[in-house]
Amino acid sequence: MEEKSQGQLLREALLCQSKNGWDVIDSSLEKPIAQYAEDYKVFLNRGKTERCCVNTAVELAEEAGFVPFVRGMSLEPGTKVYRVNRGKSIVLAVLGSAPLDQGVSITAAHLDSPRLDLKPYPLYEDNELAYLKPHYYGGIRKYQWVAIPLELRGVVAKTDGTVVQVSIGADEDDPKFTITDLLPHLAVEQSQKKLGEAIPAESLNILVGSRPLARVTGDNRVKLAVMNLLYEKYGITEPDFISAELEAVPAFNAVDIGLDRSMIGGYGQDDRVCGYACLRGILDLSSTPCRTAVCALVDKEEIGSEGVSSMQSHFFDSFLEDLCARQNVPLRVCYEKSFCLSCDVAVGFDPTFPEVYDKRNISRLNHGVGLCKYTGSRGKSGASDASAEVVAYIRKLLDDRNILWQMGELGKADQGGGGTVACYMANRNIDTIDAGVPLLSMHAPFETVSKLDAYMTYAACRAVYEG
Ligand code: MN
Ligand code: MN
Repeated sequence: MEEKSQGQLLREALLCQSKNGWDVIDSSLEKPIAQYAEDYKVFLNRGKTERCCVNTAVELAEEAGFVPFVRGMSLEPGTKVYRVNRGKSIVLAVLGSAPLDQGVSITAAHLDSPRLDLKPYPLYEDNELAYLKPHYYGGIRKYQWVAIPLELRGVVAKTDGTVVQVSIGADEDDPKFTITDLLPHLAVEQSQKKLGEAIPAESLNILVGSRPLARVTGDNRVKLAVMNLLYEKYGITEPDFISAELEAVPAFNAVDIGLDRSMIGGYGQDDRVCGYACLRGILDLSSTPCRTAVCALVDKEEIGSEGVSSMQSHFFDSFLEDLCARQNVPLRVCYEKSFCLSCDVAVGFDPTFPEVYDKRNISRLNHGVGLCKYTGSRGKSGASDASAEVVAYIRKLLDDRNILWQMGELGKADQGGGGTVACYMANRNIDTIDAGVPLLSMHAPFETVSKLDAYMTYAACRAVYEG
């Protein structure tokens, strides 16, 4: 081996080294990374909505020995419990050997993704074509949602107390839906408009039928035919849309991206790529952890974490208070010693748009789990801004386990911004830092991550639990 020059030695001792993960990881990791990616794609394809993700999480948790939490049940070190919040968020815990006054180790992520929710009166007919009218959810770039295949998933709650599960378009043979776009031949005026204004929200009309109901007279025969098909399949009538949560989401599955198959493309990876990492992190715990492990997978992050199924909901506090009560530990005592890895996707550097990033402070694909000291906008507004001591703690935790990590910002200061659930955890007096998988095309119907980074984020969640 060549002897290193003094400059080289100094460089290694004094300067930051950021390396491509494929150059530094142990070759024994190749198989686990590939297998993890396969498992994750299955999760992603099943979990096109937050409710679907929760259902899948429950299934996986029960396979791993978790049981529904019931007040009064006996909780021993090693007991694995979960609790579902209104079908849209879930919290899981593995009781540790240490008492809860020593705090808990938390990973948190969100399961909701940008999409097109149906309005309360969605179905209409216009010029012999039937449409469903959505109200978009989360920060979408509207031009990305036209002329792609869509599927419909969700629930219809009927007044008789039954809840009908709706899924149309998930199976290969299922019909799909689409939002039409203007042909370039006649788009002269539209093409002059600003990108954000060219496709107005109220033009995102989902095409669902064109064939009139035969042998009846009167108006709206195409609409009537569509409603009739829905009635035959699901037993629902038009007023039932009022108490429904139906989401139009992209009707394509997660796939490998690249000749080298190093990446995954798919819908809803913000933030299911981290949700899956948190979930697998707690499911894969092989022994009883010292501190109690808690995994919170929540809803409504994309619209500000408000509401009963969000990270701000007291559902999370109630669950932990229930655990603490069994050991006569005040919740506040547990919180003040707890730690949370707030897992949400990081912005991945995209060489096609280099102008929006500070290139020395941005996460890159294949450089590992992306830590983020702060998010926010206009001078960190809305960020939790982890303290230096917390950042040092996570650096050491990951370094000690050879887990590849990097530190980045959202983008250039004043270029835009965003937030995560981190601040709501931190507001509970819990030390929190953001970390997640660097993502390309964030919030697009088709987002891209690297398999290596997804795996490293999972490894980071495990590290948090194993301490
Ligand atoms: Mn997110
Ligand atoms: Mn998001």
